[in-house]
Amino acid sequence: MSVCLSVGMTVASLTACVQNTATPSNTEVEESTETVEGSGAENSEKIDYLVLVNKTNELPDNWEKTVKTVKITNSIGDDVEVEEKAYEAYLKLKEELEKENIYVDLDSARRNVADQQRIMDDFTKSYGADYAAKTVAAPGYSEHHTGLALDLYLIIDGKDITENEDMIQYTDIWEKIHEKLPKYGFILRYIEDKEYITGYGYEPWHIRYVDNPDIAKEIMSKGITLEEYLGKASSDKPEIDLGNSKVFTKEELEAAALQVKCAFAGFSCTLKSLRYGGDECNSKENIDYVNSLEEGANYTRVIEIFTDFHTPKEGTVVFDPDKDMKDYQWLLVETENDGWQIVAQGY
Ligand SMILES: [Zn+2]
Repeated sequence: MSVCLSVGMTVASLTACVQNTATPSNTEVEESTETVEGSGAENSEKIDYLVLVNKTNELPDNWEKTVKTVKITNSIGDDVEVEEKAYEAYLKLKEELEKENIYVDLDSARRNVADQQRIMDDFTKSYGADYAAKTVAAPGYSEHHTGLALDLYLIIDGKDITENEDMIQYTDIWEKIHEKLPKYGFILRYIEDKEYITGYGYEPWHIRYVDNPDIAKEIMSKGITLEEYLGKASSDKPEIDLGNSKVFTKEELEAAALQVKCAFAGFSCTLKSLRYGGDECNSKENIDYVNSLEEGANYTRVIEIFTDFHTPKEGTVVFDPDKDMKDYQWLLVETENDGWQIVAQGY
């Protein structure tokens, strides 16, 4: 029987699972006018194509000085910047896809740290620090800083499909695209069921250039993440028990669990097990508690999740080092625009 405590929990400020790409929606069909121009530093040979940038690994200091990029304009008229070798490889991939009548373009690739900081500052000013931390990737900790991460969008019957929720429906097309990635040195970066490692849910459009096709083939054929390939992730899959709820659907519980799994990727702790707190946790006490955290909040349902995890000696989170933590709690509420979101965590 779970205990549903909420008193004394700390308010969480964790990065959300899905990256905010702020995609302009544009259905107008335009001729793609790609103009390639050199920019950046002289030598891009020095960059490490296996560089790991995620919620706990920052972009290396000298990266922005070293990386050599090209700038192009996509079919909807947006400027996109890509690392030069990654762009060459992308063009070959695109050409091969077109032979099978699959049309893609680049939605977003490189974002520099200064731009990301500006976005973070704007969000902080407008919505407060908590909201900004939840919705914007921390400057320095987004793979998009490298220029090696590419977000694709689909062009179907001459129409640009750029919204994530629209794109995700085309599973057959993505499957064909993913099959061809390794040959050109790309991997699919945010695969299913690895959120606790990558910190992101499934993103069929986010591909990552690793340069070496053999490495790409190994990663893709094993169905692993870059973290796992580099030996920088716990290989143990957490035990998940979402129970049998009469209040929440399986989909709702999975969406809430996904948020908690993603949070762990920015936590430097190994998630061992995750379980649903039970329908009794959707109590008036917990609902009152989550509404007390935010002015004007009027949430009516709360999902409580319990986790056991291991804290390493050199972690970024302040817990007793090298200790197993049990029954650590998470409270989540359903928001209008972002689905289930963590509002509190703690004991
Ligand atoms: Zn992306």
